[in-house]
Amino acid sequence: MPPLHINGSTGEGGGQMLRSSLALSMALGVPFRITGIRANREKPGLMRQHLTALQAAIAISSARAEGTAVGSREVTFAPGPVRGGSYRFAVGTAGSVTLVLQAILPALLVADEPSEVVIEGGTHARSAPTFEFLQHALVPLLARLGGAIDVRLEKHGFYPAGGGRVAVSVSPAATMSPLMIERRGEVRSTRAVSIVSKLPFDVARRELEAVRSRLGWSFDTRNARVVDDAPCPGNALLLYIESEGGTDIFGVIGERQKSSERVAAEACAEVESYLESDAPIGPHLADQLMVPCAIAAAKGAGESSFVTQPLSSHSTTNSEIVAAFLGRAPTIESRGAKSVRWSIR
Ligand code: ATP
Repeated sequence: MPPLHINGSTGEGGGQMLRSSLALSMALGVPFRITGIRANREKPGLMRQHLTALQAAIAISSARAEGTAVGSREVTFAPGPVRGGSYRFAVGTAGSVTLVLQAILPALLVADEPSEVVIEGGTHARSAPTFEFLQHALVPLLARLGGAIDVRLEKHGFYPAGGGRVAVSVSPAATMSPLMIERRGEVRSTRAVSIVSKLPFDVARRELEAVRSRLGWSFDTRNARVVDDAPCPGNALLLYIESEGGTDIFGVIGERQKSSERVAAEACAEVESYLESDAPIGPHLADQLMVPCAIAAAKGAGESSFVTQPLSSHSTTNSEIVAAFLGRAPTIESRGAKSVRWSIR
């Protein structure tokens, strides 16, 4: 069978197309070739974070692969069976640990044996899931598909030094269950947490104060979390919303030349847009649930579905990758102006 061809320059044209392809390929045993990798990015081709994800996928599935170098714009990947076990990977930069997991976690959930995985790199990186998002928003939903996942933050890692460490235990699912999240229901609690490493406490205080003033959330200085285990300065603001339908977390990473008020304003804008819709699943959770739901459906779990905000470009592109690997497209139905229902059989 010739490998499935994925044109990485279509749609979002970023690194997620490779990670989603790796996850689906390993879980379903479908070889693929991806061309035009990250064609829509300023520096196209594989960066360290993407290469680490590819190497991790090769390790857990004894895959044959070509194009495994930084800068590569084309990769072919033919997986063997996914094997649980003990693995250790290092991004080597502040590239995101959680994005490496995006490529391998869905496959480890359908492996024959449990796994213990340790990954070093950035735990709070820009344009990537924060560790807390992984732990409190994504992992509880993945566990509803089957199996058990435990994630532990051993060390924080920020840009540019990285040096963070996350440990993950995965007990694979004997059988997979469908996920169905249709309603947000009541919002039960909201919480703002600001993490600061090697920066003045005031950075966190100002962020939390700005969130109180814009969203009216309660202010608690215990939620200003000073950490001293990271090799360089860093900051992340996390806005948690816990509702009947689950927890979502809106995170923004602090950067040099970006005021605490601006970090807070960006995070608050995401929360406002989420609360304007009645969807239980925010835009980042949505694109990250698609591949695991598709794998569950392909393994006989039946239809999985969730209601989310209008699809982001990451989500539209991920839906196309899912369609290419499964040979059937997800169904996307509009639910009024501010939400859509996504489902896969
Ligand atoms: P590039 O865009 O440079 O190719 P990449 O490989 O790092 O880089 P994308 O293809 O853009 O990334 O994918 C980013 C992933 O990170 C998506 O799954 C997106 O939902 C997720 N993500 C980005 N920001 C957040 C956030 N604040 N919270 C949770 N998830 C996030």
